[in-house]
Amino acid sequence: MPESKTTVIEPATEGVLGEVSCAGAAEIDEAVARAGKAFPAWRALTPAARAEHLRALVATLESHHEELALLEARNAGKPIGDARGEIGMVIDTFRYYSAAPERLLGETIPVAGGEAFTVREPLGVVGLIVPWNFPLTIASWKLAPALAAGNTAILKPAELTPLSAVRFAALATEAGLPDGVFQVVTGSGRVVGARLVEHPDVAKIAFTGSTEVGSAIAATAARTIKRVTLELGGKSANVIFADADLERAAAAAPGAVFGNAGQDCCARSRILVEHAVYDRFMALLEEHTKAIKVGDPLDPHNEMGPLISGAQREHVASFLEEDDAHVAFRGSAPDGPGFWFAPTVLAPMSRAARAVREEIFGPIVAVLPFKDEAEAVELANDTIYGLSGSIWTRDGARALRVARAIDTGVLSINSNTSVRVTTPFGGFKQSGYGRELGAHALDAYTEVKSIYYSTS
Ligand code: NAD
Repeated sequence: MPESKTTVIEPATEGVLGEVSCAGAAEIDEAVARAGKAFPAWRALTPAARAEHLRALVATLESHHEELALLEARNAGKPIGDARGEIGMVIDTFRYYSAAPERLLGETIPVAGGEAFTVREPLGVVGLIVPWNFPLTIASWKLAPALAAGNTAILKPAELTPLSAVRFAALATEAGLPDGVFQVVTGSGRVVGARLVEHPDVAKIAFTGSTEVGSAIAATAARTIKRVTLELGGKSANVIFADADLERAAAAAPGAVFGNAGQDCCARSRILVEHAVYDRFMALLEEHTKAIKVGDPLDPHNEMGPLISGAQREHVASFLEEDDAHVAFRGSAPDGPGFWFAPTVLAPMSRAARAVREEIFGPIVAVLPFKDEAEAVELANDTIYGLSGSIWTRDGARALRVARAIDTGVLSINSNTSVRVTTPFGGFKQSGYGRELGAHALDAYTEVKSIYYSTS
């Protein structure tokens, strides 16, 4: 039977960028068998040897930084400067976890009649399923700790953005990673992703994507008691108090929601502003929103690219068709071809509006006023999600009170950053469970074993 192929579209031009194979369940079964075969030898390597493999991968990635950035910019439609930064984070992530094999420490525990201690064991074959918004970056957050801990891994990239993963797999081979330790299988979520989740020889699924698919994955994985980590949707709040450095907060707010054309699970897509400074903040926000340069991702002056697809643009546009969506102002965007959408600010908005309640995953932000700290916290928590968020204030005590009171996995004070290689990242509530990045991620790719040695 001839191998089935699918085309990959460049969102900025709507032209064909490449072609990848569209695998079926049989290819997943073969990949799982190969990964299972590779596992014992990879696990048995000395920690120093596994670390050395990861350092070799870092060196190979460094020498292909620009090539990977260009591929990601074209396939995902992201500004080239952002893509360079993202590939930089991929490299930093592998560099950080290359130190992990030699630091997977256990504990000694006082017991009667002997000695007890813990060791960490790898899980086996792990399946990594990722979305299209930060294709290689999110894959690296899973793959680097998985390999460092001694697992073998199969990555299923999103249908719309498989190119950087396919190239990465070739580079991993070039860097000397043993056969079967890491594989990429391209294909649909419904077939390839689903088979990975149900396969009895896959020990764990690390998933990033929508809450809907994450919920279905958790249900299927339960049948084989598979370990699962889920990084899902978000509806994060950017809370701006009257005593904040308003100029800074307003200058930073557009980037916090329109970055990656709003297709960011950490997008601060609800801006909550204290009444006293609402009008002044909106004037500043308008100035900064209208200044955003939207256009060709390969032009280094541009700050925002197109949406990922025509379907995504239709989904995003549907939020403006609601009766209670009050458009305060919009930035600009090129005409077609390309899946362009102008940055859009909705205000003033009621908390019941669809654009306030649902994840949009596009460049639309809803602004809501609040009267005091208690109402700010209550509004920030009035969502099924809990992934990220920001607080802007000059009052340090209040910043800490509010940071503790908001139910979210990540929070920044006087900043809109969400991810760092060294700090844990993940969600509360329906934003998922488990943590990626930092030392915590290793917990998600190991089992703790207790060993007791009798001295009697
Ligand atoms: P999606 O859930 O549609 O798809 C994600 C991945 O799952 C893709 O590779 C897809 O092929 C695969 N998939 C789809 N159905 C499957 C199934 N039944 N079984 C197994 N795999 C399946 O999400 P998307 O549209 O690619 O990405 C957007 C979503 O991702 C948004 O909701 C966003 O918030 C979320 N996201 C979350 C984070 C985070 O860290 N929390 C980061 C980025 C994106």
